[in-house]
Amino acid sequence: MNRATMTVTILGSGTSTGVPVVGCSCAVCGSKDPRNSRTRCSALITHRGRNILIDTTTDLRQQSLREKIRHIDAVLYTHTHADHVHGIDDLRPFNFVAGQAIPIYGSGETIASIRRNFGYIFNEEPEEGYRPRLNPREITAPFDLFGLWVEPLVLHHGSGRSLGFRIGPFAYLTDCSAIPESSEKHLQDLEVLVIDGLRFRSHSTHFNIPQAVEVAARLGVRRTVLTHLSHEVEHADCNKALPEGVELAFDGQQIELCLAGYQARP
Ligand SMILES: [Zn+2]
Ligand SMILES: [Zn+2]
Ligand SMILES: [Zn+2]
Repeated sequence: MNRATMTVTILGSGTSTGVPVVGCSCAVCGSKDPRNSRTRCSALITHRGRNILIDTTTDLRQQSLREKIRHIDAVLYTHTHADHVHGIDDLRPFNFVAGQAIPIYGSGETIASIRRNFGYIFNEEPEEGYRPRLNPREITAPFDLFGLWVEPLVLHHGSGRSLGFRIGPFAYLTDCSAIPESSEKHLQDLEVLVIDGLRFRSHSTHFNIPQAVEVAARLGVRRTVLTHLSHEVEHADCNKALPEGVELAFDGQQIELCLAGYQARP
C-alpha cells in the first residue's frame, strides 16, 4: 500500500433493514442486479496496511468474509443505532489475529451507550466463553490514527446526534438530517464525500437524495457517493438520473484517494 494513498471500501450501502427487506416483494428487493443488494451501512478505510472500520453493523461477519478482511486495527463509531453497532461481537475473530484489544472510538455518548448495552464485553469479572476485547476511547477532538488525521464532526440525526468523519480529502457522513455550521466549515475542499441519501421521499432522521445532492453542491464536492439506501432506490435507474459527480454507493465499491498534499497533522 502506497503511503500517500487511502482506499475506502463500501462494506454496506443499505439502510437499517438491509435490502432486500425481509418479506418484501417489490422490484428492487427482487432485483438480480447485485448493486440492489445492500447490507447495513459501513465502510473500511485502508492506509499503509492498516484497516479502520467505520461501525460494526449487523452484517459485519458477511461483509468481512465477502471483502476478505484479515485484520481490523481500529473502529470508528458514528452513533449507536442498532444497525451500526450490533455486529460488535463479530470483532472477536479480529482479536485472535491482533492478539490484543482493538481500540474503538466514539463520542462520549456513544462509548457510554456501548458500555451500557454490551455490559458483558466490559464486565471486569472473569467469564467463561469468548467476548470481544475492546479498548474504548472517547473522541473529543481531531486525532492521529495510523498517520491519518481524523476529524470528528457532529451531525444532526433527527433529534439525536451522530459523528461524521473527515480524513484528508474524504468525508463520511452517514445517518444525518442536517449539518451544523460548526461542522460544515470543516467540509470544504473535499475530493470525495460519502453521505446519507436514504430515498427520494423525505424522512425525519435522514437526508433524502435531493437534500444530499444539495449539500454536495453547496460544499462543491468533486465526487459524491450516496449511501444508507432503502429499497425505494433502484440502482441503475436512479444513478442515471443523478447530477454529474453524484452516484449511488454499492456494496464492495472501492474508492481510491490520493493523500499527497494532505499532512497527517495540519
Ligand atoms: Zn443507520
Ligand atoms: Zn422492497
Ligand atoms: Zn441512525
